[in-house]
Amino acid sequence: MISRLKPTLIIISAPSGAGKSTLCAKMVEDYPEIVENISYTTRPPRNKEKNNIDYFFISEAEFEAKKAQNFFIESAYVHGNHYGISKDQVENALSINRPIIFDIDVQGAKTLVKKYPDSLTVFILPPSIEELRKRLEARDKGKTQNLELRIKNAEREIKEATFFNYKIVNADLDKAYAELKKIVETELINR
Ligand code: ADP
Ligand code: 5GP
Repeated sequence: MISRLKPTLIIISAPSGAGKSTLCAKMVEDYPEIVENISYTTRPPRNKEKNNIDYFFISEAEFEAKKAQNFFIESAYVHGNHYGISKDQVENALSINRPIIFDIDVQGAKTLVKKYPDSLTVFILPPSIEELRKRLEARDKGKTQNLELRIKNAEREIKEATFFNYKIVNADLDKAYAELKKIVETELINR
């Protein structure tokens, strides 16, 4: 497939529940050439999540072993769980001239930008902390893992939004998605 987009890292960060997975999924649907990074995590799967699709769900021991083998290009401890990105996925996407999209936290974004300074970085903001809490409760049917920690971290993460090239407030999903699409097209389309 010939990619219409430059082979670059597209890094989307947001507090948990702001809508980054939803927005990334829409992007990949519209642009099949975008490779979607699948991170490794020690977090247990949520309701509809599937292994090898949403994440590679692995044990703490497996995570530690991979980390020791230098398997991850980036790894972080977020909201009480380990997460990591395999070096291979990033290098493979770029080697076939495809962009790769990440849904990762602020510390992960900073690490990747150090390694790939050309990355496009976008921060998704919730309209308010109250709305963020409502979305998490609705998505996880009242069973969000580490809810209070996620809310506390959200307040800290929002303060770091200035690090990102672009910021989008996800109040209305269609409007937020239109903004994201415009940013990606403006920055990455081959002209
Ligand atoms: P994240 O990946 O940032 O944790 P999700 O994409 O899982 O967030 O979104 C959290 C929840 O909020 C999901 O149930 C999603 O369907 C919902 N959601 C996303 N965007 C909006 C929006 N603009 N308005 C209302 N609900 C939304
Ligand atoms: P969740 O448990 O809600 O899927 O994800 C929690 C947080 O971890 C989110 O902010 C998500 O973007 C982030 N995350 C997911 N995978 C990775 C990763 O590989 N590295 C880093 N740094 N953060 C990740």
